[in-house]
Amino acid sequence: MAVTSTAMTEIAVMRGLNERINSAAVKLARQVAGDRALVAGSVSRTQLTEREGMGSLDKSRDHIAEQIRLLKDAGVDFLILETFFHLAEIKVALKCSSDAGLPAVATLSFRPLITQCTDGHTPAECAKVMVDLGAVAVGANCEQEPRRMLPLLREMRAAVNVPIAAQPAAFRTTDDCHCFTRQPAFPDDLETIQISRREFEEFGRVAKTEGIGYAGGCCGCNPAYIQALADGLAEAR
Ligand SMILES: [Zn+2]
Repeated sequence: MAVTSTAMTEIAVMRGLNERINSAAVKLARQVAGDRALVAGSVSRTQLTEREGMGSLDKSRDHIAEQIRLLKDAGVDFLILETFFHLAEIKVALKCSSDAGLPAVATLSFRPLITQCTDGHTPAECAKVMVDLGAVAVGANCEQEPRRMLPLLREMRAAVNVPIAAQPAAFRTTDDCHCFTRQPAFPDDLETIQISRREFEEFGRVAKTEGIGYAGGCCGCNPAYIQALADGLAEAR
């Protein structure tokens, strides 16, 4: 199908919009960070791998490279590559990050179990591959609560020497299914499996004692959870 001039105009408008959104977001974050914190740009999976299979990785590369370019132009200090299900796709993102000259934290999301990612690699294998591709910290984000995520973080901890990153979700999972997005409560009854802020405070203490150098929260966390996590980290000092 030929690309019409209308379609090309729409693409150009979208590109301009993307640029403005990224630039405004980084500017706001920079104002808050001042000289007290770094500003990160988040880049996630394209969802093409789930929908179209591994043959779509070239298309993913184009989208990810474009998003990283926008964030780089907007002036981020580093990238957080997060919520990737396939090691194959985060490898593409890590290559794009190093091509752009930006440091990257890389975290995969493990489901339905923490024992392997969607394309079948153990947490230890994933950690090694991501470090080999230049990740400055590796770990996991989303899908399970801190307590459930810990064993996979320990496996990564034993496999590599870079800081381990952990941004768990605030929803309770089960022994049979280690991800909240496949619990019967997802998505409309999530309040019934919400974990307490206390568990994030405990996670802060554990992160400190177990050498998890980069800790945060994902789905289900509000600022009070991050405060609880910070309290836990401070208490463990
Ligand atoms: Zn999440």
